[in-house]
Parts: sequence; C-alpha cells; structure tokens
Amino acid sequence: MTIQTHSFQAEVSKLLKIVANSLYSEKEVFLRELISNASDACDRLRYAALTEPKLLADDPELQVRLSVDAKQKTLTIEDNGIGMSRDELIGNLGTIARSGTSAFMSEASGDEKKDVNLIGQFGVGFYSAFMVADEVTVESRKAGESEGWRWKSAGQGEFTIEEVDTAPARGTRIVLHLNKDAKEFLEKPRLSGIVRTYSDHVGLPIRIAGEDGKAETLNKASALWTRPKSEITAEQYTEFYHHVSHAFDDPWLVLHNRVEGRIAYTTLLYVPSQRPFDLFNPERKSHLKLYVNRVFITDDCEELLPGYLRFVRGIVDSEDLPLNVSREMLQNNPVLVRIRQALVKRVLGELQKKADKATEEYATFWGNFGPVLKEGLYEDAANQDKLLELARFHSTAGDGLVSLKDYVARMPEGQEAIYTISGDSLATLRKSPQLEGFRAKGVEVLLLHDPVDDFWMGRISEFDSKPFRSITRGDIDLGAVKGGDADKSDDKAEAPAEKDIGTLIALIKQTLGEAVKDVRVSKRLTESPVCLVADEHDLDMHLARVLKAHNQ
Ligand code: ADP
Ligand code: MG
Repeated sequence: MTIQTHSFQAEVSKLLKIVANSLYSEKEVFLRELISNASDACDRLRYAALTEPKLLADDPELQVRLSVDAKQKTLTIEDNGIGMSRDELIGNLGTIARSGTSAFMSEASGDEKKDVNLIGQFGVGFYSAFMVADEVTVESRKAGESEGWRWKSAGQGEFTIEEVDTAPARGTRIVLHLNKDAKEFLEKPRLSGIVRTYSDHVGLPIRIAGEDGKAETLNKASALWTRPKSEITAEQYTEFYHHVSHAFDDPWLVLHNRVEGRIAYTTLLYVPSQRPFDLFNPERKSHLKLYVNRVFITDDCEELLPGYLRFVRGIVDSEDLPLNVSREMLQNNPVLVRIRQALVKRVLGELQKKADKATEEYATFWGNFGPVLKEGLYEDAANQDKLLELARFHSTAGDGLVSLKDYVARMPEGQEAIYTISGDSLATLRKSPQLEGFRAKGVEVLLLHDPVDDFWMGRISEFDSKPFRSITRGDIDLGAVKGGDADKSDDKAEAPAEKDIGTLIALIKQTLGEAVKDVRVSKRLTESPVCLVADEHDLDMHLARVLKAHNQ
C-alpha cells in the first residue's frame, strides 16, 4: 500500500505551533472537542439513515468508546458515526475549514500568552488533540463505503494518508500518543471526571473499556433538553451551550421550555453574553439546531428564527414533524411557522423582562446585539411595537441609554415629536450645530449612530402616537415647547431687521450657487452661524451619505 504525504495548509501549521507550544492550562478540553466531533458524526449518520436505513443496520447502537493503553501511552476515542472518506480526511483535518478556527487565526497575534487565551475563547476543534499528543492517528471508514483510511501526523507541517484494513467497520478511531506532560489522561478516574464535566449532556453513551473487557458508561446519555429542569445544573446548561454553539462565553439567558398542546416541542435557547464572531456575516444565518424526536435534522434551518434573532443559539426538538422530513420540506412548513412565531414571542418576552428588571445587564446585551435586533424594526411588522419597547438609544440627555417610553415621559409640554439626528459616530453627533436650538429649549434628541437606524427610521413613523422627526430635515418649529433657556433670554431686541436678513440670504445664495438647494433662516441655532439640513421631502442627510457610500 502506498503512503502519501501531504502538507498542512499554512494556517494549520501556524495554528498547530500555537497549540503544541501553548502552556494552556486546561488541556483537558481536547477530550471535549473530540467527543463533540464523535457525537456530531453520530448525529449525521442517524440523519443519513432516515433515508438509507442500511447505513445503520449492522451496528445500530451509536456510541463513543474510550480506551487507554498504559504501555503504549495511548488514548483512543472511537465512534461508529458517519466516518470520513479519504478526501474528507484530507479536507477536514488538513485545512482550516471551520469558521471558528479561522476566526481564531485571524485574531491570533503571535504573542503566545494572548493566543493561548484565545484558544479558550474559540476552541480549536480537532487540532486541540496536539495539545496532549505528539502523534495523532485517525482511522476512518465512511458509512456505506468499503475502503478505510489512516491519517497520521506529528503535527509538524505534514500528515500522511494510506488505505488500511484496520479502520473501524464504520466510523472513526482517533489514537493519541500522549506526550510526556499528558500522562494524566491515561488514568480512568481523570477521564471519567472530564467526561462528566464537559460531555454529560451528550445524547449517546460514552463508554470506557475496563481491564476486564467490560465497558462502563460515563455519562447520562440522554439529551440534556429531555431532562427535567430541576435536574439540570447551571454548569450543565453552560456546557451544552458550548457544545451547540461552538462558543466559549457563558450564556446570558437560558430558556428551556417544553410546549404541549396542538403542537408539541421542546426548546433550549441561549442568548450569549458576547458577540459571536460571525454576527455580521452577510448571510445572517440562524444557528438553531433542529431535532425531530431527538434525531438531529439540521443546523441550517432558516425557518426557525428570523435573521434579526440570529444571535440566539440552541436547539428545537419537535414531535410533530415527520422523521424523514427533508430540508426542502422545511420551507413554509406550517408546524415550523407556528414554532417560529412562538419562539420570537418567547425571546422578545424574556428580553423585555430583563429590560424591566435588570437595566445594566440589559444595557450590555443591547450593546452587543441591539444593532441586530433593530433589523427587526423594518423586517417584522408584526412585532414592531415590542421591538420599539426593547430599543435603547443614546441621547442628548446624558451618557446612558434611554428607552422611547422614558423619552416620551419626559417630553416638555408642547413637544409634539420624537426628535432624532443620525450620523456615523456618537462623538460627532454630540457636536452637531443642529442640536443647539433643542438644547436651549431643553428638548432631548436621540442620537442614532447605527447604520441600521436609517433603514428602520424610513419605515416607522411613530411611537406612542408621537411621530419621529429627523432634525436635519425640513423646518422645525420649537415655538410651542414650554420651558428651556430660549424662552427666558430676550434677544428679540437685538434681532436684525427683516430686510438685512433678506440681503444676507441673497448674498449667501449667490455665493454658494448650485452647491445648495436653498438658504433659509433657522430657529434651531443659538451659537453656530449656519448648519446643513435636508429638505422635508428629501432623504435624510445621513442616509443620503450612507447610500452614496454604497453607490446606490
Ligand atoms: P468542527 O467540529 O467545528 O467542524 P473540528 O476541527 O472539530 O471542527 O472538526 C473538523 C471537521 O472534521 C468536522 O467538521 C468533521 O467534518 C470532521 N470530523 C472530525 N472528527 C470527526 C469524526 N469523529 N467523525 C467524522 N468526521 C469528523
Ligand atoms: Mg469539533
């Protein structure tokens, strides 16, 4: 048999250097990563077997098996899942295919200490095996194929591939030759401790071979979301979050629910405490995993959540979809439509509770995900009112965030509209000359600095019967507003004569010519001599600039 040698993609070599030299103290996470891969592989086989039952037939009980060989200093992790073909071994274990790992690489600085902390944040998947092993052998046979393959590497720039008979009948066997600092992973109690900590939620048995040849199951082996809430600890919820989301922050919100009624389903949803790295990817993909009666169907189901809730992670397990549901059948599926409506309602409801009761936590959440949630203001007309209540803004009233309700509650008598100004940065907005007249009158102005603000502002005309008005557009008369310094000062005595103003305006018009549409006397200034505004029916100035920047 021929042995072929391949080079790792340059980024993988770089990554492996960081991983192998790292003094990362929690090396044990390698086991979590490999078990997680094994469990994904079993999930995928179970799904494939829905349409092709013979893939499962010979060996229907999906499981992960651990074994140690103290003499050879090896730890073996074996699954009977989907397996990998030769090309898949090369593609999956030789390049950085996974987005989490590429995000890690783009953040990696070359400074070892910093990068090691990043490993904890991103996780480096399969490659974490090289934290504990000086040689890794992967033998695999893809379900339904006859050839088996061996992938082998010392993690130093190269790996080899050859065809072998010793591959498992189906699935993947990973043999780690442990390095001298990793001998602890030969000890059974240590291994079972790790499995209980990180992988208890995995829905298939993780077994360890004993000396007597008998295997002992280390985990509960029932999917976490099927267990009663009272039996699940906060740590277990967090571990499961790490598993389903490939993220390593702590979840901010955990929503575990079983719904029975006309349709029955269980959801376990998480709102992260940190921004996922792909939050602003143009695909705006949702990341919920869909299960049908505990069988994994897909993690690519657009139907489960709208794009503006794409930061939510977790699973939905339905009892009403047919098991052999195809991805095509998921589109416009009435069961999913109902589930989606309920999920949106529930997530928004829980956010509102936090907004009411935990202002500071909510402000942090808003800082992370507010710009995404606001997309819902123009996408989801049905939930517009709820979203407006959840929205928070910076304003001229101070440094903190304000809600529209608070804004309206403190409007001075005579103020008819909710005033806004939009621009690229808070700092510039705060210095806008257009704000002067409002400040003088004690009228608060919302400072909109998210690109998305321009889009929903074009769609939504009012909140609580008060219209939104951009102060850089058209004429604004604050004459009816009571209070503020403007009323007290009597600069009327010094006001210039009408005809002098007329002459001045004519002069300015002549000088600026085509550069402006019109020149008018303004009541919004108190200190600056001039400011730019758009006409009532023209695009808001900032939106015009945004669109121009995008060549629209
Ligand atoms: P991720 O699991 O996030 O995709 P990993 O680095 O952990 O990233 O794994 C890379 C890929 O290698 C997986 O996506 C999968 O396609 C493949 N893989 C890894 N382990 C296994 C396994 N035990 N069985 C089948 N495929 C696997
Ligand atoms: Mg993985």
